[in-house]
Amino acid sequence: VTNSPFSLYIHFPFCRKKCPYCDFATDAVARIPQETYLEAVLMELDYWAYQPHWRSRPLHSIFFGGGTPSLLHSKSIDRIINVACRSFPPLRSIEITLEANPGALSEESLQGFSNAGINRLSLGAQSFSPRILKRLGRDHEAHDTPTAVSLAKKVGICNLSIDLLYGCPDQSIDDFHYDLTTALSLAPKHLSLYSLTLEKGTPFFQAFERGDLALPNEDLHLEMIELSDILLKEAGYHRYEISSYALAHFESQHNSSYWRGTEYLGIGPGAHSFCRAPTGNEGTRWANKVSLAEYWTDVALNGKSIAWQEFLSPQKMMSEFFLLGLRRIEGVSLSTFEQLFHQSPHTVFGDTFNELISLALITINGDRVQLTPKGLLFSDTVGQKFM
Ligand code: SF4
Repeated sequence: VTNSPFSLYIHFPFCRKKCPYCDFATDAVARIPQETYLEAVLMELDYWAYQPHWRSRPLHSIFFGGGTPSLLHSKSIDRIINVACRSFPPLRSIEITLEANPGALSEESLQGFSNAGINRLSLGAQSFSPRILKRLGRDHEAHDTPTAVSLAKKVGICNLSIDLLYGCPDQSIDDFHYDLTTALSLAPKHLSLYSLTLEKGTPFFQAFERGDLALPNEDLHLEMIELSDILLKEAGYHRYEISSYALAHFESQHNSSYWRGTEYLGIGPGAHSFCRAPTGNEGTRWANKVSLAEYWTDVALNGKSIAWQEFLSPQKMMSEFFLLGLRRIEGVSLSTFEQLFHQSPHTVFGDTFNELISLALITINGDRVQLTPKGLLFSDTVGQKFM
């Protein structure tokens, strides 16, 4: 069993309202079962804290994701962080992020989060245009994000990230230009830009199938990506992952750990976990049950609630090494692959490399494999080639 640091993910599966494009494991509820949720999460944390694989391992980062975890009482967040840091010694530099809906924050709640130890806030702004926010079915207003930013700074949370969506229905290049410049005027340390994707089963997907949803065409989509690259670069942000831009030293520690293949423990309904075998080249991934009722019952009985788990063979781990690692702009190191898997990457993936190089999707410079600018646009296709 290794003693390397790992990342902790806490899933909060509730929102005030379900957005019509979202397929995350979340429920829109009028009343959040705060106590039930907290009790179950603490029990699950306690269970894993005593498992030999995780016991007393140092904690690299904590991420409260969802859902809308900013709806969780700050006292509950305080309890969870306390229990986590008592079980797993936190690194001095630990990053503790809370995802937040800008419309559901007050100075009081932010002060509570800050006191609890939250030192990074990820704001789901999505857009600053009232028309686009309405079209996206969001339940916050355009002015909520600037208000949340100034309140967060006031209570001392200065490491702020803003999420924006592009490729939204009826969104023009001017709309997106406005979103980017408004976000930059708030001087966040980090920006995540996500392209709206149509997920099967969502109201947006159905509307698109019926022909009732006008999405930007491919050219406009590309124009939006180019625009963000130019404006963010000019403002001093560097792109370090397909969707992520940061000022120097403000890359997301937690998300970067996923792309580097660090182990993570997911707590809460629907959370995913990943651990490596001691050899490092095999692993296991599992997901918790999504329904809070089932999760609660299982955790009360057994301390855990696993819906499925899969063994990751060396072959699968080799594929994921490239699938995840190539998301980072700096790419992956061929010698690291060789140290981990005791095989030459050229022997395993030589044909894939040749095909992707001939399509101008990747480059190999010495030890590094990286996506090309074209590869960044077609990263899903590149990833599939390694699977
Ligand atoms: S707020 Fe986020 S998690 Fe909740 S429904 Fe909307 S997109 Fe999904």
